[in-house]
Amino acid sequence: MNEETTQIVKKLLTSPQKIAIVGHKNPDGDAVGSCLGLSFFLKSLGHTTTVIMPNDFPDFLKWLPGYEEIVIYEKEVQKSTQVFESANLIFTLDFNSLDRVGELQTVLENATAKFVLIDHHQQPADYAVATYSDVKMSSTSEMVFHFMDALGQAKKLSKEIAVNLYTGIMTDTGSFRFSSTSPTTHRVAAKLIEAGAESAVINQNIYDTNSPESMKLLGVALNNLVILPEFHTAYITMTQKELDEHNFKKGDTEGFVNYALSVKGVVFAAIFIENKQENLVKISFRSKDDFSVNDFARNHYSGGGHINAAGGKSSQSLNKTINEFISILPRYKNALSNAS
Ligand code: 5GP
Ligand code: MN
Repeated sequence: MNEETTQIVKKLLTSPQKIAIVGHKNPDGDAVGSCLGLSFFLKSLGHTTTVIMPNDFPDFLKWLPGYEEIVIYEKEVQKSTQVFESANLIFTLDFNSLDRVGELQTVLENATAKFVLIDHHQQPADYAVATYSDVKMSSTSEMVFHFMDALGQAKKLSKEIAVNLYTGIMTDTGSFRFSSTSPTTHRVAAKLIEAGAESAVINQNIYDTNSPESMKLLGVALNNLVILPEFHTAYITMTQKELDEHNFKKGDTEGFVNYALSVKGVVFAAIFIENKQENLVKISFRSKDDFSVNDFARNHYSGGGHINAAGGKSSQSLNKTINEFISILPRYKNALSNAS
């Protein structure tokens, strides 16, 4: 965090504040981990904090220290609205523009509080009095560690903070595999382990708590895998029927897209998940090297994210969405061949 932003934040935090901390819609490990980690930190400085998520988060995160106190906007509209109305400060974490919080957007736009943004996605919007944005960072959770450090408060690192931040870093880097993982990321992880984050326990809690149904659903996903060697591309489809037959719960398809990317020679992978309730197809994109799925998702699927991990949606049927996807690929043939 640069000196100017650090000074602004220090000023904002000189007296006890009422702080709301909010993550993006469909919160992942980094959104939840960074928000909870920051919440414990700000509490230790004497502030009052509430963590609010636009909608529910996956069960595999429902053991993180402090998770029971998270307010889910979708379930508690009035309570959340009150928190935002009475807050002096709103920290927005792990997203780059207010349209990433779904229905909560208007509540945030109407709030009188000052905003602080901490995020590693591309193209941050300009709504905060303090913007700590760094697209090179592995995760927002790593940034929360640097945030504490910049404020001269690294000594406040508790076990609760460490476990949350370690989980956020681990999940957003695919267990320290993605190219966003820097030497500093590993140094931060080491400090978090020293502060009480038990890596083996966290790994088990996150990765070894699959339900039998979600394993069967992975079988269906792998069966549905289509490889397009000409475009170094692989994709997976999941129909609503397939999800229903396996008692689908939020988070069950997390990581499926990585199997498509793990095929030799593939540099671009996608998973298309039908959502009949919302009448759309949710898409996750992943890539290797310099093929930008952020650009791809922005250009064709009103989405975005990072260079190598992004998401978007389509309001067409699943079949039409796939046909359209295949028809777009020839335009990227050179870029896909050069990346591989
Ligand atoms: P996932 O595919 O795991 O849902 O998301 C991958 C990355 O892309 C995450 O960093 C997420 O925040 C971002 N992302 C996912 N869906 C969207 C979307 O619809 N719009 C934008 N701007 N980003 C998204
Ligand atoms: Mn993140």
